Amino acid sequence: MQFNENLNRLKTYEPGKDIELIAKEYGVKEVIKLASNENPLGTSQKAREAIIQNASKAYLYPDDSASELRNALALKFGLKMQNVIIGAGSDQIIELATHAKLNHQNAFLQCGVSFAMYEIYAKQVGAKAYKTRSITHDLNEFKSLYEMYKDEIKILYLCLPNNPLGECLNAFDVEEFLKDLDEDCLVVIDAAYNEFASFKDEKKHINPAKFIEKFPNLLYLGTFSKLYGLGGLRVGYGVANEDLIDALYKLRAPFNVNILALKAAVAALDDEEFVKSSLENNFSQMQKFEDFARFNAIEFIPSYTNFITYFFEEQNSSNLSEKLLKKGIIVRDLKSYGLNAMRITIGKPYENTRFFEEFEDILKKN
Ligand SMILES: *Cc1c(COP(=O)(O)O)cnc(C)c1O
Repeated sequence: MQFNENLNRLKTYEPGKDIELIAKEYGVKEVIKLASNENPLGTSQKAREAIIQNASKAYLYPDDSASELRNALALKFGLKMQNVIIGAGSDQIIELATHAKLNHQNAFLQCGVSFAMYEIYAKQVGAKAYKTRSITHDLNEFKSLYEMYKDEIKILYLCLPNNPLGECLNAFDVEEFLKDLDEDCLVVIDAAYNEFASFKDEKKHINPAKFIEKFPNLLYLGTFSKLYGLGGLRVGYGVANEDLIDALYKLRAPFNVNILALKAAVAALDDEEFVKSSLENNFSQMQKFEDFARFNAIEFIPSYTNFITYFFEEQNSSNLSEKLLKKGIIVRDLKSYGLNAMRITIGKPYENTRFFEEFEDILKKN
């Protein structure tokens, strides 16, 4: 069968491996997953209660306007419900933004190495990818590429902080940079980990209300999959001025977010204790990953997220990841990004300790 020719240029997204599947395949009893940047503390108590309380409503279609969650987010950011759209993960908002702006005659611009879905969605509609040579965000390079291909570039992605490398630009520099862009270029600020960055360093904080007021061409993306511990329910959001949100709404499928996800997200947003302990665990444990790297002469970029990326010289990251897998530890090899590196999600203290023990052993024997 012949398919749409855009499919020939597409790669399938490579997700973190599943715990149950690995346990079966490798015959390991206790599998530790440090691969998908999920919250190691699990699902907040408040969110779990909301899920249980609403389980009996699973036969009903959800509120299509998602007004409870949109209002809760609007309140948090000091905006109106009309400035918010909810998606089945912020992934889905990236898809809507792609359909709103890209086609086979134009292009998008991103950092050299960044979240894989920007390119996958763009290629689905035949759009071209421009990437900076630098693997981390370099605004000078963004600027010169943008100037060169201005007429083509219709989406510019900034991942703040960046997945899978963990670095983060300062909000002030981003603001200055955005002033020079054409209004017709949609700027997507992917803030999937911005709560982590803001906790570590205030200068990294992107205030969506302030940014969308200054830049009507800006779309801010947030998710409940990482800090808020709801990856399994698929819920994320976009924040922008009303015209932009209206355009995205035209592309949205009805009832795109399920009833349990909507209820759990409202509850998770309200669970400040859980958020605080998640952030504290993350950065106190991050310290241990940095110490481990220094002790073993592994290179890393200081991370503003809930993961750390280790770079290798002599050793092969795929080989190392595979050896960890055999011990029941799942990490994310970055070979598919063209890097000899692995991304490790910061886990709970006992998970991290086990990672350090097993990994040190593997490094010695290699
Ligand atoms: C995880 C992630 C997302 C989207 O996650 P969803 O689960 O779809 O909400 C978006 N961008 C980045 C950079 C991510 O790491």
